[in-house]
Amino acid sequence: MILPSSTIGILGGGQLARMLALAAKPMGYNVVVLDPDPDCPASSVVDEVIVGAFNNPNAYAQLAQVCDVVTLEFENIPSEQLAALEKTVPLRPNRKVLERSRDRLLEKNFITKAGVRCAPFQEIYASSDLSAGRYPAILKTATLGYDGKGQAKVYTLLEAQKAFERFSGVPCVLEGIVDFFLEVSVIVARSSFETKCFPVFENQHQNGILDITLVPARIPEETAEKAKEIAVKLASALELHGLLCVEMFITNNGQILVNEIAPRPHNSGHVSIEACQTSQFEQAIRAVCDLPLGSTELHSSGAMANLLGEHISPTANYGAALATGAKLHLYQKREARAGRKMGHLIALGEDALETVKMARSSL
Ligand code: AMP
Repeated sequence: MILPSSTIGILGGGQLARMLALAAKPMGYNVVVLDPDPDCPASSVVDEVIVGAFNNPNAYAQLAQVCDVVTLEFENIPSEQLAALEKTVPLRPNRKVLERSRDRLLEKNFITKAGVRCAPFQEIYASSDLSAGRYPAILKTATLGYDGKGQAKVYTLLEAQKAFERFSGVPCVLEGIVDFFLEVSVIVARSSFETKCFPVFENQHQNGILDITLVPARIPEETAEKAKEIAVKLASALELHGLLCVEMFITNNGQILVNEIAPRPHNSGHVSIEACQTSQFEQAIRAVCDLPLGSTELHSSGAMANLLGEHISPTANYGAALATGAKLHLYQKREARAGRKMGHLIALGEDALETVKMARSSL
């Protein structure tokens, strides 16, 4: 057990690190983040920012020196740095987990090998591999894609070839289009001695970016239990120590297909801050410190609406948004660009969805 008053290191100082720190501080932990930007969103709530590029070995050495455990808010960290870090300080989740979840090819092969279904896919290493594809399909770069970036819906072989060229010929997956009726996610925490799932979250996307999350997902109890079983199965196949988000499609005939996994807190879990007895951030801290996991029970049903750059102006009417009863969470990012995650709104109760939508439109 890594006890309060110890120091937790976080790779990355964005909004996820900020909310991890906001959960760790009341429990008496010190928090240090590593980020290239001294004014990153976590900077105003942590004890220290180690300013350095994610490929700078000195920054990792500095972090390892002051931390009792290190966790992360994103998975695209060079393996070399992770390997060096792991030699000096516990890294949770570990390098192997991160390597598997940040490369769609490794990820899909791992999921299939674990006995879990994902969308049909084909590995693409060269343009000639595309001729065996079935179209329409979605071409996704194996690495560095997020929020719909690095992916293209392609209707013909020619379109697929053009998209592959646009992606500079990097390894890709060609995925069958899933005719889903709902997207959900399950967040599971696993320590060295226990595993706990959050209720299933229902997710709605706009332009490939998460827009709204509802909890509990509007699916039959039996489907929710199956979704949780899948998340637990993947977490144990990974020998996870920390938090894992498993994004899934529910098809019209009730089948569950895994879309992707992320071994860290996830945007779809933000609603847990207000709706669950323990937030995903506190649970992540408990898991990486090997403390007893908290109850994930719902206080109430809830909804979360993301606030992107386009939702926020310098004259945004936060008073009107708060007057709806919604809770406001802002990440203190200086520049509000379109598509950039600036914050989110959460409401509880039967009218939660209407409330967060009303709050967002009144900004
Ligand atoms: P991803 O970056 O893989 O999470 O994709 C972003 C969003 O694109 C997903 O949340 C879905 O809404 C959509 N999407 C991704 N893959 C597929 C697929 N194989 N079939 C249908 N929709 C997809």
